[in-house]
Amino acid sequence: MKTKNIFIKTFGCQMNEYDSQRIYDNVTNLGFIKTSDQANAECYVLNTCHIRDKAKEKVYHEIGRVKKLYRDKKKPIMVVAGCVAQAENEEMLKREPYIDIVIGPQAYHKINELLKQHESNIKQEEIEFDTISKFRHFDNVKNNNNKISAFLTIQEGCDKFCHFCVVPYTRGPEYSRPFNQIITEAEQLIKNGAKEITLLGQNVNAYSYRENLKEFRLSDLINHLNQYSELERIRYTTSHPRDMTDDLINCYSSIQKLMPFVHLPIQSGSDRVLELMNRKHTVDDYIKIYKKLKKINREIEFSSDFIIGYPGETTKDFEDTLNLINKIKFINSFSFIFSPRPGTRSSKLEMIDKNTAKERLKLIQEKLFYNQIKKNKSFENTVVDVLVENKMEKQNKFFGRNKYISPVIFDGIDENIGKIVKVKIENSNQNSLFGSLKKKMKAA
Ligand code: SF4
Repeated sequence: MKTKNIFIKTFGCQMNEYDSQRIYDNVTNLGFIKTSDQANAECYVLNTCHIRDKAKEKVYHEIGRVKKLYRDKKKPIMVVAGCVAQAENEEMLKREPYIDIVIGPQAYHKINELLKQHESNIKQEEIEFDTISKFRHFDNVKNNNNKISAFLTIQEGCDKFCHFCVVPYTRGPEYSRPFNQIITEAEQLIKNGAKEITLLGQNVNAYSYRENLKEFRLSDLINHLNQYSELERIRYTTSHPRDMTDDLINCYSSIQKLMPFVHLPIQSGSDRVLELMNRKHTVDDYIKIYKKLKKINREIEFSSDFIIGYPGETTKDFEDTLNLINKIKFINSFSFIFSPRPGTRSSKLEMIDKNTAKERLKLIQEKLFYNQIKKNKSFENTVVDVLVENKMEKQNKFFGRNKYISPVIFDGIDENIGKIVKVKIENSNQNSLFGSLKKKMKAA
């Protein structure tokens, strides 16, 4: 078979990263080989994200860049995949004739078919919500990801319909993959060399799969993965407070491989705003989860997402969010000013004053960053366990992560890649820890 180059550019979340890997696993059957040279590909895929502001315009901007790269060469087959593709569908083909294929996140198992049809000069758009067929199809496509830290999608879509969010429209209703299908893929990833698996889902802790009258939950998957001796660490993301059930919370008391770091979005510290957002949980629900987990293990740390300046947010609501951050010292969080997503309920609401929103974001981030820097500083002159992922390009340094997922950059040796090593932390900044390899020292 004649080989051809494919370049895949991924935007957004870990689920898109996972999808890009699976798109690649699929197209290898057509002779495509992944290239890192974006100016020399026969097929160019943009795997897009709709979460951030002006997502659609960013995609057209990217296509403009690709056009320039290929100005004097044969044009690549241009594929737009992911959530923007789902939201915009045939509009994209009409607006930008450079695009050949538009494919939604629940239809990318059909990419080979579309690429073959493209040879007959047919412009294609495929945005069906066909999640079951997609995962059935990928049952027979080996996951070739050979990273030390691998992603594994177990659940997709969302039924919660927060008023600001496009996910229920771009990824469709909640769907949980069959338990055995996930385990088979996890075994493949472990065979490929994965030492850490992050289970993914838009509402990962809503995972629920029924077979022979038994319901399998996220806690069952974690318990099962815990049995693989080659696997060192288990993580999951992203969770919803309403699905943080006791069976999952109890995993933290019995499963050492489950990392003590919980990313649990709350969005606001005000019950009034949470109701306006249709979040279906209160601040008190969240604090209860926090307390339960801290009771199990004081070392567990939290991170969260915050939307600042949601329509209707008052000074008092904002102060409630500040108070929550004073109570729960999130060690790492995402915070953004509200920006409307077309088609969502909140896109029709009146925005609050721009300068007020900016000022509030500044205050929130000062607090969040202060906690983050303080936590990182607390590691200085201690020894931490680091799972070594790779050697850094151009630098004679190694990259890994501690149990709280903080990047650790250190002087090490090649043999340590894929192992958990002890690193003495000498320095830190807001985002990373820096140190050198220590042998035979007790980890903090
Ligand atoms: S729970 Fe998460 S994915 Fe679902 S609608 Fe709300 S923000 Fe979006």
